[in-house]
Amino acid sequence: MLARRSVLTALPALALAACAAPTSTLPAGARAAGAAIAAGPGAVPAHGAPEAPAPTGPARPPRPGLEQVEHEFAGRLPSAWGLQVPGVVTRVAVGSVALTFDACGGPGGAGYDGRLIGTLRKHGVPATLFLNARWIAANPGAAAELAADPLFELADHGTAHRPLSVTGRAAYGIPGTASVAAVYQEILSNRAHLEGLAHAPGPWYRPGTAYYDDVAADVVRAVGLVPVNFSLNGDGGATFSPAQVATEVARARAGDIVISHMNHPGRGTAPGYEAALPRLIGMGITFTTLSRAGLPWE
Ligand SMILES: [Zn+2]
Repeated sequence: MLARRSVLTALPALALAACAAPTSTLPAGARAAGAAIAAGPGAVPAHGAPEAPAPTGPARPPRPGLEQVEHEFAGRLPSAWGLQVPGVVTRVAVGSVALTFDACGGPGGAGYDGRLIGTLRKHGVPATLFLNARWIAANPGAAAELAADPLFELADHGTAHRPLSVTGRAAYGIPGTASVAAVYQEILSNRAHLEGLAHAPGPWYRPGTAYYDDVAADVVRAVGLVPVNFSLNGDGGATFSPAQVATEVARARAGDIVISHMNHPGRGTAPGYEAALPRLIGMGITFTTLSRAGLPWE
């Protein structure tokens, strides 16, 4: 089983500008310790295409209905808020790096960075792609193509791209969800889109802006998914220059979950990865999807 671990350190504010305020200025990427996905048998041993299917565990229990979840969380008030709160996974417990790319959609960025995806394919580097419902609606062809590519797994980046809160707390000026019911809807409406696209989307959730409160993070688990964030910010919400992206991504080491964005073609993300990936591969760094790093119900 995936152990819940307390978060030991707090990240400085890391604006995920592509998810929020595009004009935000960002510090250089930062690392932090946090919960890790338990080691699983399916880590990709090389940077090339996965050599074995993702491990399969026991069947997941049926997803609880809204009334059951509302009853379970009735009266619970959050005590933590941020990019890392208790129960949110920020690292993988295997000897590989997990690259994750958000596709946020909406007026702040509904593009498709085909150059970035092409770079991953060229090097055979797997990744977990967090798709928002608005991005899927704007890019149905690309979404279907990515779902059919075994190099990638799809994961849930929410429906309306809200910070995940049970009290309406905002991040970067974007109001969060304001009830358990709204959290449930934000997670699962998009999950239905993902399940229509992919046979088995990964059981991972990352909210718009990447902000959670601890109760909302527990709701993610209550509906059978795992709340995920990151240990390394690769592109500063798609605001970094190519050189900054290359520098930050090249810092990735075994266990890191790297966040970047695939919805801003023309920014620094794609050229930054083009520079960083050959360096990492040359150092012997290997890559994994989150699912291949270990399933949460094992
Ligand atoms: Zn986003």
